[in-house]
Amino acid sequence: MKANYDVIIIGGGPAAYTAAIYTSRASLSTLLVTGDVPGGQLLLTSEVENFPGFREGIMGPELMDHMLAQAKRFGTVVEQSFVTAIEPRTGEHTVKLAEGAPLKQVTAKSVIVATGASAQWLGLDNETRLMGKGISACATCDGYFFKDKKVVVVGGGDSAMEEALTLTNFASEVIVIHRRDSLRASQIMQDRAKRNPKVRFIWNAAVTDVFGEKFVDGVEVHNLVQDTKQRLDCNGLFVAIGHLPATSFVANLLKLDAKGYIQTKDIVFTNIEGIFAAGDVADPHYRQAITAAGDGCRAALEAEHYIQGLPTSGSEVHTVALAGEKLNKSK
Ligand code: NAP
Repeated sequence: MKANYDVIIIGGGPAAYTAAIYTSRASLSTLLVTGDVPGGQLLLTSEVENFPGFREGIMGPELMDHMLAQAKRFGTVVEQSFVTAIEPRTGEHTVKLAEGAPLKQVTAKSVIVATGASAQWLGLDNETRLMGKGISACATCDGYFFKDKKVVVVGGGDSAMEEALTLTNFASEVIVIHRRDSLRASQIMQDRAKRNPKVRFIWNAAVTDVFGEKFVDGVEVHNLVQDTKQRLDCNGLFVAIGHLPATSFVANLLKLDAKGYIQTKDIVFTNIEGIFAAGDVADPHYRQAITAAGDGCRAALEAEHYIQGLPTSGSEVHTVALAGEKLNKSK
């Protein structure tokens, strides 16, 4: 690991790895700072069947290993540390690293933030144990495994409705369990879900345990009004109670929306020149490995373009310290 790079990519998922493949293959010196468990959300899935190029599907962790190996093949330097802050400066952004990293800070002409978002979970012990064994947060990814099975969806927002509707393409019955007696989802999504004969709702209830030895075979449903608990047999549990983008370290620098996602223009441009965003960290909507990879590619190409446009020598750079405004200027 050296102190200066052309590009620093922050993240350990498909967006970050794809960006690293592109920038390093374009002969830009690239540092990938992955956090301590590289691989992102795909580490939580079992088989990935909708990533193009793998006719028989591929295990999530294996797909991520392939991507990382591909980035390393072109010279990407990988550092398993956390980034604590970015100090923007035209053509020389400083990226601060958490304690334990070989260097306290590194600089780069361009930075790509691809730190992703993590699904929020119910926080149950058995939920962790059965993760990927009937428990999922992505019906598009895993719905196919529940053909003619009975599944439960937890949540009352648009994601929960979307998960439920996607699951009706596979499952025999979809039971939405929501903690209140009215949904947060948009009216159109509510209507669609309520109209679907395969979808049933359990109101004012929480899932308080998940059962199953090797695979989910039921959940415990707590009726919050009567304060009673009963077992509900099912083969799958889809948790759709929101996602948390990993943006706290850029909260004072980049424009975020109300839920903490990075606000971008033309998909990858942040409010700071030379700092790009890619993948789920800026995308509350699609949240797919393939869309994240596509964003990573875009961000890498834009970073390359940005670097090509920087003055080559004799330019005076000055620090921009404020968040929220496009302030970078080279004189
Ligand atoms: P959301 O709108 O924040 O909804 C989260 C849901 O989960 C809420 O119903 C909430 O209950 C429930 N919840 C939260 N914590 C819980 C817990 N610990 N236990 C049980 N239930 C819990 O999140 P989202 O549905 O993921 O949507 C995020 C954003 O993306 C929204 O702006 C949404 O409109 C958008 N989105 C749009 C589409 C679409 O247009 N097709 C699809 C997906 C997402 P309460 O209602 O009681 O708070």
